[in-house]
Amino acid sequence: MAAPTAVLLPGAQTADGRPATLGVLGGGQLGRMFVHAAQALGYRCAVLDADPASPAGAVADLHIRADYLDEAGLAQLARECDAITTEFENVPAQALQTLAASRVVAPAAAAVAVCQDRAVEKAHFLKAGVECAPHAVITSEAELAAVDAALLPGILKTARMGYDGKGQVRVRTAAELADAWVQLQRVPCVLEQLLPLQAELSVIVARGADGGLVNFPAQQNLHRDGILAVTEVPARGIPAEVQTQAVAAARQVAQALAYVGVLCVEFFWLADGQLVVNEMAPRPHNSGHWTMNGCSVSQFELQARALAGLPLPEPRQHSASLMLNLLGDLWFRSGDAARTPPWDQVLALPGTHLHLYGKLEARRGRKMGHLNVSAATPEAAHAVAVQAATLLGLPTGDF
Ligand code: ATP
Ligand code: MG
Repeated sequence: MAAPTAVLLPGAQTADGRPATLGVLGGGQLGRMFVHAAQALGYRCAVLDADPASPAGAVADLHIRADYLDEAGLAQLARECDAITTEFENVPAQALQTLAASRVVAPAAAAVAVCQDRAVEKAHFLKAGVECAPHAVITSEAELAAVDAALLPGILKTARMGYDGKGQVRVRTAAELADAWVQLQRVPCVLEQLLPLQAELSVIVARGADGGLVNFPAQQNLHRDGILAVTEVPARGIPAEVQTQAVAAARQVAQALAYVGVLCVEFFWLADGQLVVNEMAPRPHNSGHWTMNGCSVSQFELQARALAGLPLPEPRQHSASLMLNLLGDLWFRSGDAARTPPWDQVLALPGTHLHLYGKLEARRGRKMGHLNVSAATPEAAHAVAVQAATLLGLPTGDF
């Protein structure tokens, strides 16, 4: 018989005499939206982040201003919380292990560790029976010299700490590959074959400690300069059978990890019709932000439910949805001085929902917020999104 799953009821008084509390490592926008959802359910929330101006810290009931490896900070987080999650996959696995000694931690340190290293992650995809891009692991001059020429042109990616396209260099020849590895300071890397993409998609699943598994529909993603720009659901540009295949693969990946919490798996749909997995994120994901307005339950509520051992309802999409990411560049459309974009005009459009993350300073390339558009049909959502993008000065020809 499976071990009973502990349930942390919202609003319940715990043995420590405080209300049931959920904690999150990391104070960025994902932590902030998690806190909003958890508080709506009735939980008290604590955030650990060294930045005094962190977006999640600003809305949490308790903001512990400490580094991820600060022992006193982690001890306070464990004391103040009944269950703890992370909004950031590069949090040291050791921090999660320390917390897991006394508290419920989801996802587990071991699952997060798999997502922290592209080489380990790809090995996991293979184990789960899911196809990924042809690649080679490069950790030494000998491995560099032995790279199969068929992998070129390719993308050299650092095995650890990459995000938003950072830590990646495109290479065409063996000589460029050698230079790129030096440029990346000879850290362990993965060279991936540059694949002819027809489209990109992702699938978000949530799995409970009891093994119950639910998923959101496949999401079509458009990246600009390595950063997610647009997500559209339903994924109009991707055949239904490819979407079904992606959903099955994402569920398989989560099962094979015995994962608990929300997991996002990103895929490439190739020119020849093949589906390959790109990478995964052990947390709610930017491509799932549309669920806040287009679905019966958001990815953040599912994360809170999974962490607390509450039931995970099968998400039901109730509106065609399109999300536009809002980068700091929007604040600099008319010159060097930051100007607030015309939100009043954008919000006059039907079905628009603005989510700003409370970041004090707009910087180019910085994720400041997102705009969700929900409508009765995909065509209507698309038409409103084009109008919103035009008002904001965003490109419109590519989605
Ligand atoms: P994030 O964590 O923000 O999703 P990342 O820095 O981990 O991004 P990847 O997801 O590996 O980066 O790559 C970013 C984008 O670069 C992909 O979404 C895709 O558009 C492109 N890309 C990455 N790898 C390949 C590949 N092998 N072939 C073609 N395009 C690729
Ligand atoms: Mg990615």
